[in-house]
Amino acid sequence: MHIAVIGAGVVGVTTAWALRQRGHTVSVIDPQSSAGMETSKANAGQRSYGYVYPWASPAMIGKALPWLLSADGPLKMKQPPSLSTLRFLWDTWRYARQPGLFESNKVAMLKLAAYSRDCFIDIEQKHPFDFSGGHRGLMELASHAKSQQGLRDNAALLQRLGIEHQMLEPDEVYSVEPGLARNPPILGALRLKDDGTGDCHQFTRALADVCAEQGVTFHYGQSVAEVITEAGKPVALVLTRANEPGAVEQLEADAFVLCAGAASSEVAREFGLKLSLYPVKGYSLTAALTNPDKAPQSTVIDDEFKVVATRLNDRLRVTGFVELADFNRDIPARRLDTLKRATAMRFPGAADLETAEAWTGFRPMTPDGPPAIGKGPADNLFINTAHGTFGWTLSAGSAQIVGQLVDGEPPAVDLGAFRPDRFG
Ligand SMILES: Cc1cc2nc3c(=O)[nH]c(=O)nc-3n(C[C@H](O)[C@H](O)[C@H](O)COP(=O)(O)OP(=O)(O)OC[C@H]3O[C@@H](n4cnc5c(N)ncnc54)[C@H](O)[C@@H]3O)c2cc1C
Repeated sequence: MHIAVIGAGVVGVTTAWALRQRGHTVSVIDPQSSAGMETSKANAGQRSYGYVYPWASPAMIGKALPWLLSADGPLKMKQPPSLSTLRFLWDTWRYARQPGLFESNKVAMLKLAAYSRDCFIDIEQKHPFDFSGGHRGLMELASHAKSQQGLRDNAALLQRLGIEHQMLEPDEVYSVEPGLARNPPILGALRLKDDGTGDCHQFTRALADVCAEQGVTFHYGQSVAEVITEAGKPVALVLTRANEPGAVEQLEADAFVLCAGAASSEVAREFGLKLSLYPVKGYSLTAALTNPDKAPQSTVIDDEFKVVATRLNDRLRVTGFVELADFNRDIPARRLDTLKRATAMRFPGAADLETAEAWTGFRPMTPDGPPAIGKGPADNLFINTAHGTFGWTLSAGSAQIVGQLVDGEPPAVDLGAFRPDRFG
């Protein structure tokens, strides 16, 4: 079967790889000049299989206002908010108030993430290329009694699901992460020792090279503008070139997979599907290590600033903020100052933050939180997008699931929480 994959981020490339492994002919379309240039470019680098959760949470309702009002708070919103921001917040609020929904969505995401870990290990065994990553664990710090209680509650759920984890005392925290500053003090941490890290962009580029060697065709510099249908089924894509207005091509295929990240709702509309998505902005800094002994060994989530620090070989990646500002690529200096301050507090002297590379990207977020994975309105359309905060973590698993759906096999994970048509 010839399958067209729309988007060459980490989700599109892992999908193309999974489909090629199953013997399909695969074409990938992306307006960028190479793979992994949008949200998959400089994310936090966590493959956090034991640390995934939906965006719409009842706890968030109480935290949102204080976070918005604090200068260094992790939640930001452009003033005045746009209509689409208000609509997204309203939908989020409605989902967050549905009894039991947060818990059931979180369990579904944890199950998908556990499957994704197995799928990553399979890819890494088959293609041992370097992507500055490994499976050396994740640690979430608690420096307040409230965050420690939150970690204990989370640990109880992980216990119930049989996901390996440890609650660490301060001494144990410092022995796992010796570079962590002792002041301000911490009360403990939740450790997920099987979780992973890695440079998502490096991985996506290397896997795209593997795909190309195995016969996948990449149509870079081209964008899906329209979908041609016959008898209600998509049969071809109309592709345009950003730098050649008026140049139009058609690409015929037997099946289509939508993996266009934060642009997915626009493309979904062309397929007759309503996909509710908002681009939740975040920022990162990537710095060369100046003292590896003072840097994190793996990935550390700070509860004070909600900043994530991840070691990528000889570099440190720090990320933060969830900002509701639509598609706005500005990088204000004050956001970077917060990231620098958070890093200097937990890992002083670890990296040269002044020469760090700054980046911003858009998490493709549904108002409830789980991604959209499954069949589209037509039986030759497949959706694999909207992975929000956890697209790097979930990509390998959701790609395999698309392969299973395309070949008419039962999916490895229950897809009830991920139904693409749940937005009406
Ligand atoms: C600050 C930040 C930190 C993050 N940290 C983590 C983390 O630590 N762990 C984690 O798991 N996740 C993390 N994420 C989320 C993760 O980066 C994303 O979920 C993931 O990269 C999404 O991948 P994607 O392939 O769906 O989207 P993208 O990487 O955005 O790829 C979509 C592709 O579709 C293409 N496209 C758009 N329109 C069209 C069109 N019309 N036709 C064809 N192609 C099109 C785009 O050019 C793009 O290349 C983070 C995100 C941010 C912003």
